[in-house]
Amino acid sequence: MGASGGHPASGPGLIVRDRDDPVFGWRYWQLSSRRLLRSVTQREFEWPPGRVLRALCVEVGHPAPAERCNCGLYANPDLEALRQHGLCLAPEAIVLGQVALWGKVVDDEPSYRAEFAYPARLSLVVDSLIDEVSPEAMLEELSVYRVPVQAITLDEAVAGMSADMLRFQAMSRRTGGT
Ligand SMILES: [Zn+2]
Repeated sequence: MGASGGHPASGPGLIVRDRDDPVFGWRYWQLSSRRLLRSVTQREFEWPPGRVLRALCVEVGHPAPAERCNCGLYANPDLEALRQHGLCLAPEAIVLGQVALWGKVVDDEPSYRAEFAYPARLSLVVDSLIDEVSPEAMLEELSVYRVPVQAITLDEAVAGMSADMLRFQAMSRRTGGT
């Protein structure tokens, strides 16, 4: 795109980061029948283990994310925003986690819409498991993403969080600058 008419190429709503210096966001996921992370809103959409997700604009077809569009990989900047705006459809199994976002990231309050994403840390909400799967077995399955996984309770997921998560959030804020 041209820098026409004095519009800056990147405004306050646009962040550009490298993969080794990502922005962290928060998301809910649910579990597909193959026990992979899947989108809460697009049930058929799985997050492939070991593969970086790249955003596509299905509606318009331009490079995603674009500023005045809905495209991009979504996450909320903090847990509070996720709780207010994130969709989390009990009674299905819920995974809460942080996701690394990089490339072009549009800060579209209350969400980030990113070009690239990969999970950074996952918390399985154990009391959201409704079938006979043991939390231990499920945590084992989630290890295919090769990121830290832990078990938390629904209370922690919606009202508070574990010390580990708090530490990680503090850390990612620090490395992420302000
Ligand atoms: Zn778009």
